[in-house]
Amino acid sequence: MLNWFSRPKYASAERRDVPAGLWTKCPRCAALVYRKELERNFRVCPRCAYHHRLSAADRLAMVLDPGSFVEHDEGLVPEDPLEFVDEKPYLARVDQAQRQTGLPEAIVTGTGAVEGRQVVVGAMEFGFLGGSMGAVVGEKVARSAERAAELRWPLALFSASGGARMQEGALSLLQMAKTSVALGRLSDAGVPALSVLCDPTTGGVAASFAFQGDIIIAEPGALIGFAGRRVIEQTIRQKLPEGFQTAEFLLEHGLIDAIVPRGDLRPTLGRLLRLCGAPMAPGPSESLQATPLGVLSTDGRSA
Ligand SMILES: [Zn+2]
Repeated sequence: MLNWFSRPKYASAERRDVPAGLWTKCPRCAALVYRKELERNFRVCPRCAYHHRLSAADRLAMVLDPGSFVEHDEGLVPEDPLEFVDEKPYLARVDQAQRQTGLPEAIVTGTGAVEGRQVVVGAMEFGFLGGSMGAVVGEKVARSAERAAELRWPLALFSASGGARMQEGALSLLQMAKTSVALGRLSDAGVPALSVLCDPTTGGVAASFAFQGDIIIAEPGALIGFAGRRVIEQTIRQKLPEGFQTAEFLLEHGLIDAIVPRGDLRPTLGRLLRLCGAPMAPGPSESLQATPLGVLSTDGRSA
């Protein structure tokens, strides 16, 4: 169990996610935004409030108290029981994803603190094979729920996923049942689960643990749903309303509890953890301000 920020390979992976140029074009409003300004603003466009996707490392850096994160189960890596090959072998895809993200799998799990309150956390990495859930992602989510039940600390899961990992076949679908049972047991134990739906949260992840939180929060504009629009329209032979799989539509229809802009996420989670009775983290709570992205040194403190 190592402190997240003491692992330089993650720090370099985080850097690699950042576009090479000084300026980034916003995909929604087409404004050219100074990259550092975007990072200071938690990768939210300062012109139109478009929420760019965040890596798991950036997500944890943004919500957790500096230096509080301790990673768990980082040694779990995918296997290939089906010896699956499409255009290339599954394990070659895994290897490529690991090199691109610097992560062993599509979720990072551990323990940490938010505004001085202890929490068990998991953050999904969409950049790792579309944040797909195979056996390792399912196992890490289930273990996180078990850890939360044992410690009696709330669980906070940040989802960003295209769904089940096709290359693991039925084994990936099994993870929906496994994570659902684990979240159910956590609920039976009376320990709260907070779910944050990031862009996108779809397929098997949406249909299992992501929607099992006692409190379900989404990021503005996030795509959330099970099947894609085209598949549903072809199945039910009806036109679907505009924007029906957005966070805003789901809030309007009572499927989620709140939409929280990224800049407010940390104080919101801190308040919820306080209300849930999460225990105080030992030692003085460090900064009450979220750490802006891109200014982390490797020990997780602001440079
Ligand atoms: Zn914009």
